[in-house]
Amino acid sequence: MNPAYTKSLNTLIEQFGKLPGIGPKTAERLAFYILKTDTAEALALAESISDLKKNIRQCKICCNLAESDICGICQDARRDKHIICVVEQPKDVISLEKTGLCKWVYHVLNGHIAPLEGIEPTDLTIDLLVKRIRAGGVSEVVMATNPNLDGDGTALYIQSLLSAMNVKVTRLARGLPSGSTIEFASGSILADAILGRNAL
Ligand SMILES: [Zn+2]
Repeated sequence: MNPAYTKSLNTLIEQFGKLPGIGPKTAERLAFYILKTDTAEALALAESISDLKKNIRQCKICCNLAESDICGICQDARRDKHIICVVEQPKDVISLEKTGLCKWVYHVLNGHIAPLEGIEPTDLTIDLLVKRIRAGGVSEVVMATNPNLDGDGTALYIQSLLSAMNVKVTRLARGLPSGSTIEFASGSILADAILGRNAL
């Protein structure tokens, strides 16, 4: 709290300072930018934040981000619904989609199993995934959890759940460095991993 600033300015600086990667100096710079910018533009920013929080929800089928009950990918008739690609978070869907190679549908786990952090399988959307596969029509499940300890553990856990079911389980592996994340993998490495997925 800087006594030289007004209450509103201090509040905005404080809010910007909560954003990832924003230090106190940048927070101050952003707040002053908003102060100088015209009212319509500043309100458009405020409104887009409000709309995002009001409109975004979870797809009832795949748990990806959606603005209606079913997300755009699940609604897309051209998608191959026989293949479900399992990812940890919605950002991974975006990274994989950028390769332009994915004609499958997704399942977003909303995290990974991490017993030490108290994240159990029941905290994820694994139940819903199993239900989707039980409903039939799925021939392959592509595990695209991160190639690190937690991601590998989560993939193995899900594979063991699915082993009794008539479905092929594969894993994105080739070229993805161990310990890395899907989110930050380059497009060419992801493309290689998609095309070279192997049986788990
Ligand atoms: Zn969906």
